Amino acid sequence: MSAQLPSTALAHILVSPGHDATTPGKRGVFLDHGEVVVREYRTNRKVAEALVQRLLTSGTTTRVWDPHAGVEITSGNYEWSDVSEREGPKERVRWADRWLREIGAAPEKVLGLELHTNAATKSSRVKGDGSSIRGAVLYPPTKRTAQWGPIAQSLVAAWKEHGPLPLFRRALIPRDYYWNKYLDAVPMIFELGFHTSWADAQVHLSPDGPQAMGEAVYRGLLPHLRWG
Ligand SMILES: [Zn+2]
Repeated sequence: MSAQLPSTALAHILVSPGHDATTPGKRGVFLDHGEVVVREYRTNRKVAEALVQRLLTSGTTTRVWDPHAGVEITSGNYEWSDVSEREGPKERVRWADRWLREIGAAPEKVLGLELHTNAATKSSRVKGDGSSIRGAVLYPPTKRTAQWGPIAQSLVAAWKEHGPLPLFRRALIPRDYYWNKYLDAVPMIFELGFHTSWADAQVHLSPDGPQAMGEAVYRGLLPHLRWG
């Protein structure tokens, strides 16, 4: 695979699973399905792991990082750091920006990808199958420059073809969201379904679901990876 779009070839990808076990809330409880609980951080980490595994075995020279630890991920069984280890989202991002500068990363060649699943409603205690919307939502950055359109486009196209959930919509990251506001690199958020939808939750909980989601994200990134 050669880079079809050299101008968007990424030198670094920051992969963030968004939360850890200590983040309050962030779960769906399906009251009529035996009180099955979907914990967001678990799904996010599984997807992140699947994505990282694919990136590390692809032969790309794009480097992969845990932005919350400042650690380069070089092994498929990476143990994710706790997102909350650094106090405050703003400080966490500022700190990531600093080490990106230290390693000499050009911000326009760095993609900061946060992977989430979401609650669509205020209450995460769901009756029946839930009436929540479902599907994946891609949030490109508000600070958009020419080279980021193609990355968002290929993520969407690959998701439509390979994603195990429907694509619900594309929307801009909320302007004030810390990842958008403070990250020097290009921020992107992919919300991979709603943990208040039973249909989505079944994919989140299935052994193959997060794997398939990671694969779909990987395929979306593929044309923008660096080779050689
Ligand atoms: Zn989240």
